[in-house]
Amino acid sequence: VDPADSLVHALRRAVAKTPERTFLAYFDGRLTYREADELSDSVAGHLAARGLERGDRVAVLLQNSPHFVLAVLGAWKAGATVVPVNPMYKSGEVTHVLRDGEVAALICSDRAWETYLRETAADSPVRIVLTGCELDFQTRGDARVLTFERLPQAPDADDLTAVARAGHQAPADRDPAPSGIALISYTSGTSGTPKGATNTHANIMYNAERQRTGLHLPEAPVYYALAPLFHITGMVCQLGACLNSAGTLVLTYRFEAGVVLDAFAEHRPHYTVGPSTAFMALAAHPAVTRDHFSSFVNISSGGAPLPPALVEKFRAGFGPYIRNGYGLTECTAPCASVPPGREAPVDPASGTLAVGVPGPDTVVRIVDDKGAEVAFGEQGEIVVRGPQVVPGYWRRPEATAETFPDGELRTGDIGFMDEQGWLYVVDRKKDMINASGFKVWPREVEDVLYTHPAVREAAVVGVPDGYRGETVKAYISLRPGADTDADTLAAYCKDRLAAYKYPRQVEILPDLPKTASGKILRRELRSRAHDSQ
Ligand code: ATP
Repeated sequence: VDPADSLVHALRRAVAKTPERTFLAYFDGRLTYREADELSDSVAGHLAARGLERGDRVAVLLQNSPHFVLAVLGAWKAGATVVPVNPMYKSGEVTHVLRDGEVAALICSDRAWETYLRETAADSPVRIVLTGCELDFQTRGDARVLTFERLPQAPDADDLTAVARAGHQAPADRDPAPSGIALISYTSGTSGTPKGATNTHANIMYNAERQRTGLHLPEAPVYYALAPLFHITGMVCQLGACLNSAGTLVLTYRFEAGVVLDAFAEHRPHYTVGPSTAFMALAAHPAVTRDHFSSFVNISSGGAPLPPALVEKFRAGFGPYIRNGYGLTECTAPCASVPPGREAPVDPASGTLAVGVPGPDTVVRIVDDKGAEVAFGEQGEIVVRGPQVVPGYWRRPEATAETFPDGELRTGDIGFMDEQGWLYVVDRKKDMINASGFKVWPREVEDVLYTHPAVREAAVVGVPDGYRGETVKAYISLRPGADTDADTLAAYCKDRLAAYKYPRQVEILPDLPKTASGKILRRELRSRAHDSQ
């Protein structure tokens, strides 16, 4: 990677080479590279004219849309750091981010501004507001339809579309520096209060470049944005990788299985990456066929455990092999993945699917509680050093020192490595269940549940138990039309797992709670289990 590089430079390269190629495809709309460059210049010019300075923070709270991309590129061209905010956040969570990030400008949908953000931002440092139109799905009868609803422009905000079309020049002296902070990414919060990881432009370019060279996609690749762009996986492996290879990025607002399948049929993408739960939902959709996946050269799952049973079901049913990938916000998305052309092994003892091998300049080690490296096959904490690891958390010297001692990332995940260099993630350290003194890793139990044909989603948590300390409880959602019950599923696990591991309690729910990036929220299920004790 050119050390002076950033995604803004990647955009300029694409404009120079293929100005009229479609960069963004959004339902019936298209933006070429040239258009996206001009429109984002204008956003940058506006932000600078409104007093935004180099290094200021711009929060972007939008779904997957051209508006999101123009907002991010515009902010970077104005020399700012982008704070992507999860649009599912409630008011209190947004307040935390706006204040903690000391955010100067906010770019959001006009509906969100009217319904809650105006009030939320009132007590924050935000002084510049841009709002754009909102596109959403609504249920009418049995159908999910797309509605395009423009609210009257708020008097206290500027209109994002008008600003982008105004033809302002981007400020000349604000090109991002590679060591500059491109993003403050608040972790998805599956484990507590979000902290802002500071992803530099160099961090992003390293992973975007690895995606470009490692995926074996054709010239003019078409990416489908399955993961939300505000999450690091979407930002780097979809937007970043696409820009870096001058490809086309297909956007469809937010995850909606039927809409995703229609977009596959229409745009014939070569690549997508998303959480395993998205693939489960696609596989369970009544309209899904093999044809929907026939254009894919590569499919990756990242950011959440990938059950081996899903990989096999998917290959048998639809063709593609889902490649696993392991990463965290703190290492700017992937730090290990399955190289194209190879298949991840399954550990025979635990049934765990390998997440991949570490990238070329990345050192992954497994350490014990005292920080000493353990032998091949032994479990310990996964620690990572490499060009994608962030310098630290935004304004949290203590948390930075604790999580990045000597620049090495302590992931909080338990894993092991085999002699061939494959990395396996066992589970999160903090999710371990202690049943009568035995360690139970929820993942192992979930992997067994996923082999049952009726199971759509599974999450396993520990619940207090007077006799064992903790006992294992499974929450399940079923595939459409599946006919089973909690006792059958418990018995199924009992036949396949040691006595202390199988779930003594099984509860079936219509859906499991998830983050906006598609991860199942074990934390929420754990408190539900505690409350029902
Ligand atoms: P928080 O840090 O607030 O808990 P989060 O950890 O969900 O949020 P992310 O950075 O999005 O935030 O997620 C990283 C975590 O996701 C990893 O630490 C790991 O536990 C899990 N993970 C990522 N990829 C995989 C994978 N391929 N297999 C298993 N787990 C994975």
